[in-house]
Amino acid sequence: MILIDGKKVAAELREELKKEVSNLKAKYNKTPGLTVILIGDMAPSQIYVRMKEKAANEVGLKSEVIKYPNEVEEKTVLDKIHELNKDDGVSGILVQLPLPKHIDKQKVIEKILPSKDVDGFHPMNVGNLSSGYDSSVPCTPLGCYLLIKKIEPNLSGKKAVVVGRSNLNGKPMTQLLLKENCTVTITHSKTKDLKEECLKGDIIVAAVGIPEFVRGDWVKKDAIVIDVGINKTEKGIVGDVAFDEVSKVAKALTPVPGGVGPMTIACLLKNTIECFKKSKKN
Ligand code: NAP
Repeated sequence: MILIDGKKVAAELREELKKEVSNLKAKYNKTPGLTVILIGDMAPSQIYVRMKEKAANEVGLKSEVIKYPNEVEEKTVLDKIHELNKDDGVSGILVQLPLPKHIDKQKVIEKILPSKDVDGFHPMNVGNLSSGYDSSVPCTPLGCYLLIKKIEPNLSGKKAVVVGRSNLNGKPMTQLLLKENCTVTITHSKTKDLKEECLKGDIIVAAVGIPEFVRGDWVKKDAIVIDVGINKTEKGIVGDVAFDEVSKVAKALTPVPGGVGPMTIACLLKNTIECFKKSKKN
């Protein structure tokens, strides 16, 4: 079985991006910039933002974190996004989710210019992705896609099963696999005979949020299995796939941690650079 080393693939991607940033700096005499807005003091969000900032600095991006207290007014955040939209030095804007309850997430997402939407959550990018046009793609499914392509460069005609239909993971994942000419089944909590559906997959992507949900006898021999899950349990952090069981049948499988996670951040950097490059074309 191939253990898909997301840490290694992400490190290689970051190395490529570092070179690209250096070339872009030389060409345009400008540095692509990522601005992250962090609201409140939730520990996981703070950790994620710190990791994003560190990774951005390491590849040579200009990075800035704007912090607000939990009780910040929605208007203050929207006004700041408006200001960042107009700022030439800002290539990409990310608002760390989740947001406090009094702030309308969708309003915030829609305020970010689609051309600076490095998370790929703006309805314009969502629409473009599902229409098969050029768009920013959410970082986690983009990372999954790059890992799958490392194992199987030609996905045409493959049967893919996506478990979970969130806007963050399952839906954009489905669109990426469709674009590659996979035949995609998207499943969710109301799906009947989920095991039977999974058994049809040459590729399975699990983004459910339930520890070790996808079992060994749900997986076809030699399938490629991508585990998006990050679940805190008594055993520590585990994925949505029962690793020990599935590793006995799959051709390739991502570990948790060290699989999809590192790719998510590397893809955020990639998206920032793409936004910068597109801004230079227009
Ligand atoms: P989410 O928004 O909670 O969505 C979960 C999806 O799983 C929903 O579509 C839900 O179906 C489906 N589901 C729940 N129970 C099910 C069941 N019994 N059978 C079949 N489907 C079921 O979760 P998410 O944001 O996509 O995140 C999924 C996991 O990925 C979490 O563990 C999260 O921590 C992790 N994650 C990892 C990364 C990374 O960088 N590796 C990034 C983001 C998230 P319904 O729509 O019917 O409710």
